[in-house]
Amino acid sequence: MKIIKSPSILKENLNKLENITLIPTMGNLHEGHLSLIKEAKKLSKNIVLTIFVNPIQFNSKHDLENYPRTLKQDVSLLKDSAVTILFTPSTKDIFPTKPFLSYKMPIISNELCGKTRIGHFKGVITVVDRLFNLTNPSYAIFGKKDYQQLYLIKKFVSDSKLPIKIIEAPTIRNINNLALSSRNNLLIDKDIKNAVELYKKLKICTESVLNGAKIHDAELMAKEELTKEGWKIDYFEIRRQSDLKKPTNKDSKLVALSAGFFGDVRLIDNVEFCIPSTI
Ligand code: AMP
Repeated sequence: MKIIKSPSILKENLNKLENITLIPTMGNLHEGHLSLIKEAKKLSKNIVLTIFVNPIQFNSKHDLENYPRTLKQDVSLLKDSAVTILFTPSTKDIFPTKPFLSYKMPIISNELCGKTRIGHFKGVITVVDRLFNLTNPSYAIFGKKDYQQLYLIKKFVSDSKLPIKIIEAPTIRNINNLALSSRNNLLIDKDIKNAVELYKKLKICTESVLNGAKIHDAELMAKEELTKEGWKIDYFEIRRQSDLKKPTNKDSKLVALSAGFFGDVRLIDNVEFCIPSTI
C-alpha cells in the first residue's frame, strides 16, 4: 500500500491504473470501513481509500475539532488490507481555492439530517466531487449507515451523468446491534448501552407499522420514549427508500431513519423495511 498526501503524486500514480474503486472516509477506521474494502475487492484490484476530515461538511467548530483523528492507527489497520493507495491530503490539497460546487443541491438535502446540519450535504457533495475528479474512479463505495448521504451521492452522480457506479454497502453493527461509527469513540462507557436504543426503537417502530400502526403514531411513540431515556432527538421519521420523501399509502419500500444526541454525541441510524400493501 502506497501512502500519498499530494494530489499531483496521486494523479501520477493513478495514470498507470485503470478500473479504480474509490472509498472515501474521514478516518478513525473500524470494521464498517473495512467491510467497504471487502466490497471493493470484488470489483477491482485497484483500491484507493481516502482519509480526509472534510471541514466544510461540519457545521460546528466544536464537532470538527473533536472528530477522532487516528492516522497512525488507521495506517496499521490497513497495512495488510487490499488497499492499493491510501490518500491522506490536507485541507489545502483538497481545497486550494474556495470550495465551489456548480451542482444545485436537491430540496431533500435540507430535510432529515440537513434540517439541523445546514450546508452539511453541500459540503459532502463538494468533497466527493473533488475526490471523483482526483481519482477518476469506475466505482465508489458508500455505506448505507449514512443513508441520506448515500441517496444524495447517487442522485448527484446520476444528475451529473458521471460514469461512476455507486456501490451500496450494508451497515456493520457490533454484537449489540449498535451501528459502528467513529463517533461511538466519543461516547463514555456507560452511554454505549444507551446508544443502541436508537436502533432498537427504529426496529420497534418498523415492526409496529408492519403490525398496522399508523406511521405518525409509531414515529411519535419512538421519539417520546427516546426523549424519556435522555436522548435529544433531531428527527425520527419513516420515509420511502426511493427518494426519501414522505410515503403515501401506495409505497411499500420504506426506511425508518433517526438522528439524535446522547449527551454530546450525535448518532444516526436507519432500518429498511417493506410493507406488503397499504399503510
Ligand atoms: P466516515 O469515515 O464516517 O465518513 O465513513 C466513510 C464511509 O464508511 C461512508 O460511506 C460510511 O457510510 C461508511 N460507514 C461508516 N460506518 C459504517 C458502518 N457501520 N457500516 C458500513 N459502512 C459504514
